[in-house]
Amino acid sequence: MVSDIDKFYRKAPQNPRSQSPNSITKTDRNPTDAKIDPYGTGIRPEPYRNGNGASILGPRNLDREKQDPDMIRPPSTDSGHLPNLKWSFADSHMKIEEGGWARETTVRELPTSVELAGVNMRLDEGAIRELHWHKEAEWAFVLEGVTRVTCIDAEGGNFSDDVHKGGLWYFPAGVPHSLQGLGPGGTEFLLIFDDGNFSEEETFLLSDLFAHIPKSVIAKNFRLTPEIFDRIPKGEKYIFQGSVPSTIELEQPSRGGIKPSRYQFTHNMTGQKPLEASGGQVRITDSTNFPISKTVAAAHVIIDPGCLRELHWHPSADEWAYFIKGRARITVFAASGTSRTFNYVAGDVGIVPKGMSHYVENLSEDEPVEFLEIFRSAKFEDFSLEQWLAETPDRLVKEHLFAGDKYNGKKFLDALKAGKDPIKAPVRDSKL
Ligand code: MN
Ligand code: MN
Repeated sequence: MVSDIDKFYRKAPQNPRSQSPNSITKTDRNPTDAKIDPYGTGIRPEPYRNGNGASILGPRNLDREKQDPDMIRPPSTDSGHLPNLKWSFADSHMKIEEGGWARETTVRELPTSVELAGVNMRLDEGAIRELHWHKEAEWAFVLEGVTRVTCIDAEGGNFSDDVHKGGLWYFPAGVPHSLQGLGPGGTEFLLIFDDGNFSEEETFLLSDLFAHIPKSVIAKNFRLTPEIFDRIPKGEKYIFQGSVPSTIELEQPSRGGIKPSRYQFTHNMTGQKPLEASGGQVRITDSTNFPISKTVAAAHVIIDPGCLRELHWHPSADEWAYFIKGRARITVFAASGTSRTFNYVAGDVGIVPKGMSHYVENLSEDEPVEFLEIFRSAKFEDFSLEQWLAETPDRLVKEHLFAGDKYNGKKFLDALKAGKDPIKAPVRDSKL
């Protein structure tokens, strides 16, 4: 489908400096800093704001600027300095392997990604992410297709499951495991590790282990003679094309003495009954409903067109946000008069440091935003600005915000609601 803005760019003159009827100009006024959506409306963002600013004369990356309307033309409320809180997987190095690929967003790509690291991985039908383990715990969300996972727990119990789109797995630190794409078409998922320094290129691999231990020792370990191992891989396999497995029941290990794990390592996140908000849906998965997931908590959020994930903050951990669908803006308020606004599209990662107040606004009036809020924490926790004020004595609230304005102070207090509505539908008649 060709969007309006794409049609506009096709018609636009070759020189991207020249302005169009859809450009924001010097006469543009936006005193409330209402959102603009260049992709949805064809509006071309330019660095003009309420009479200030000037056109761009030098080189420019229009595709990026269309994605970042609040970067090229920040709200007038933005102030001070914040470190970068955005990265796109489109900017991450792609590790291409037999039957799959992986790209990562860690503290190396995004210096504020200190608590968690993310890896986006694809495994074609039958392709295997080889048997391995790592020092960090691994949490994953399946984006497409079906993933076969296997592991054993620390008590020697074995576990396999097929995780469908919208499902999760969690492997505690050190638990050895494998991943495989099933048919048709394989699978793609987001992996999260509970340390921003993690790298998917530094995991303990079965093939790498066998290649770097003396053959005589390997032979002794398995009560065999060394020549059995003459033709094993000389180095790591990492991701490689395997054959498509049968059902979990038919693929069970063939020897006796196998005991099933007492633990559940997988969970159907999007199969949970959602918390229905006035402007969307939230599904929270943490150690209360997925007990194995002791170090990662998450919320799967759908924000309806034009709606707002309300102003809130998280007391226990930084937020690592991963955008699956749509276009959004987030302003992060960092205290000391400092705030900055970032925009996100599908495939982008956002960071909101612990304690900093923020919202997520859907830029589009047609499409939902779907994203994950992920935390290095046993429990999902947030404080709602509205709930806090609604549960604070009226006089106290009024004297902070409406000391000389009785009329609007009453309107504000009358509108406050004590219950939590994490995603708010806009009041349609109000002037924004
Ligand atoms: Mn792993
Ligand atoms: Mn949040």
